[in-house]
Amino acid sequence: MRPLRPIITIGFILLLLLIPITGYAESGKTYEVSTGVLNVRSEPSLQADILGMLTKGNQVNVFKEQYGWVQTYYQGKEAWIAKHHLIALDETQVSEVKQTAVLSAEMITLTADGVNIRSGPGEEYRVIGTASSHKSYELIHTEGDWHKISLTEGKTAWVASWLTNKSIGTKSRNNEETKTESKTLSPTNQSGSLSGRHIVLDPGHGGRDPGSIGLGGIYEKSLTSPITNRVADRLRNAGAKVTITREGDYYVSLEQRAAISNSHQTDAFISLHFNAYPILSAQGISTFYFSESGQQLAKNVQASLSSKVSLHNRGIHREGYHVLRNTSAPAILIELGFITNPYDLNIIQTVDYEKQAAEAITSGLIDFLN
Ligand SMILES: [Zn+2]
Repeated sequence: MRPLRPIITIGFILLLLLIPITGYAESGKTYEVSTGVLNVRSEPSLQADILGMLTKGNQVNVFKEQYGWVQTYYQGKEAWIAKHHLIALDETQVSEVKQTAVLSAEMITLTADGVNIRSGPGEEYRVIGTASSHKSYELIHTEGDWHKISLTEGKTAWVASWLTNKSIGTKSRNNEETKTESKTLSPTNQSGSLSGRHIVLDPGHGGRDPGSIGLGGIYEKSLTSPITNRVADRLRNAGAKVTITREGDYYVSLEQRAAISNSHQTDAFISLHFNAYPILSAQGISTFYFSESGQQLAKNVQASLSSKVSLHNRGIHREGYHVLRNTSAPAILIELGFITNPYDLNIIQTVDYEKQAAEAITSGLIDFLN
């Protein structure tokens, strides 16, 4: 049957040409795992390393499709999953986690009357009106130092966070609004129990590194920032000077994070993360350390967390994470719950949890430094 071979080969090549080789999925399209256990691999190939496993019902966000494989992120790394074990979900089927976030919308108030509201997140944007300090506004979204708020009739506007009860940034500004700031925001409490201390907070991941991906496709990076800001507020109230390694959704390397801490006389370095695991039942809070001083800090903070928040206490563990090995200050990395566990994730997304965790981390630090 030799003469047939070229025909088969040509036919095969033609067939390949007809199949779109790489398709870009709509960014963030969600799929659900339909089989018992599904391997997550480093490359789109059955021979590639297995990075982890997903189980039936897990949801993944897909960014790219190629040769019957889909690309997602797994524990902060690019990862591939065989597409034939995935079912595409439409908007309405995507886990209720995102809904919960909307329902528990946070309200913010302004610290002064007549604050300018703008068409975008910055002073360069047009002023579209002024807002009143007697009303509270639904917080839709935060970008850098700016909050997007909901007005009446579905309209939205942006307001500087430093003029609200939920301040994000620390930069000093030279404009009319700064005057309002100094009048209305309480000055740093210099007599607090962390007075004279300099703490570096490190919100995990950011930018092109989403971190872990949890239920409903939620990104770890989008949860580490708000809780870091909450901890920063609490520490500043206790008199500490706080430096944050990342103040928006952008990429900062692990080397840079350690360098930021090492460029100051830092009393403690605290990296904040959320955990993920293919087995949904994994839950709770763990604190990691590397050095001896880190171990004591880990003990204090984990003890304080376990007494103040309701998540399971997974204890402290020694681990050679880059930021723990390369910072000269006592350093810890806290995994503040599992975003792959429904119970943990529901709690993690509440403002109450942010407040309790911030309180707990602050008092753990006070125990360690005093
Ligand atoms: Zn992380």
